[in-house]
Amino acid sequence: MAPKNPTKIAVIGSGLMGSALARAFAAAGHEVAVWNRTPSKAKAVGGRTIAFEDLIEAVSGRELVVISLSNYAACFELLSSEGVAPALAGTTLVQLTSGSPADARAGLEWAKERGVDYLDAAILAYPSFVATDYATVFYAGSRSVFDRHLETLQAIAKNSIYVDEKIGSAATLDCAILEAYYGSSLAFLHAAAMCKAEGLDPKTFFSHKDAFLGLISVTADAARGMVESNDFSGDQCSLNTHVAAIEHIVRLSEDARISTRFPKELLDNYKRAIGAGLGHKELPAVFRTLTQD
Ligand code: NAP
Repeated sequence: MAPKNPTKIAVIGSGLMGSALARAFAAAGHEVAVWNRTPSKAKAVGGRTIAFEDLIEAVSGRELVVISLSNYAACFELLSSEGVAPALAGTTLVQLTSGSPADARAGLEWAKERGVDYLDAAILAYPSFVATDYATVFYAGSRSVFDRHLETLQAIAKNSIYVDEKIGSAATLDCAILEAYYGSSLAFLHAAAMCKAEGLDPKTFFSHKDAFLGLISVTADAARGMVESNDFSGDQCSLNTHVAAIEHIVRLSEDARISTRFPKELLDNYKRAIGAGLGHKELPAVFRTLTQD
């Protein structure tokens, strides 16, 4: 069903993500202009979007301008081209390009100097998830600017979450979630390699994924309270005992002649915490040594 008040939107960037975002806004009944450095890709977006070859024409008179490019350097280069900043005056720029918190701060600075409202956003989804229940977008910046556009933004993700006024907060949360994702993915892939090297079919390991996912979940809940109280004492399992288990993983990897980098890095981190006198504490005590270089 078309919205009562369709929003005039421009989506800059017709890559995999930008195209999916533009189509989702258009499918929700908004009026969507698309622009891409390589014009043929903007034309190929389709789904009732209107492709422009001129960037200034694409963004002029739009309430929302969403940008999704490879990186912030490309965004700054584009936004700084002649005539673009004046054309953005009075619009809200939603930065959906992935970046660091420092990138987000630089983006806000740029927008403030030019009188442009600015939200920094991080999308936690593949393009095929856009507009489905699996898409989450985190937003940082002015709460009132976010509230003003929330209904429109929900076209790309019902799960549109305001994180904080601190402009770097969406990028920080995105980096934190992605680190947990990439780190645990490397861990379970190394685990599968150990199984294969020892002649245990990796599918047996994958069929027990609930065992490690459950442990991670319980540990994350415990860590949350311990980090908050800065008290890592407990009566479940000491770091000393955990380190002995990690040593078995290193030994298996060495014996099986597979990569030992990951388990050795684990061992190094946990041992550092023991070296700092935390051996009798629970596993999340490693947090203390991670916050010091
Ligand atoms: P992509 O398909 O490679 O598209 C990159 C886009 O950036 C293209 O439109 C490209 O234009 C444009 N671009 C690159 N350099 C440029 C420059 N100097 N000037 C102007 N335009 C430039 O990448 P994507 O997957 O859509 O990713 C876009 C953003 O979404 C990234 O920040 C990415 O981290 C984020 N993201 C992606 C996913 C995902 O699953 N794909 C998930 C979460 C977040 P041309 O077509 O002319 O090369």
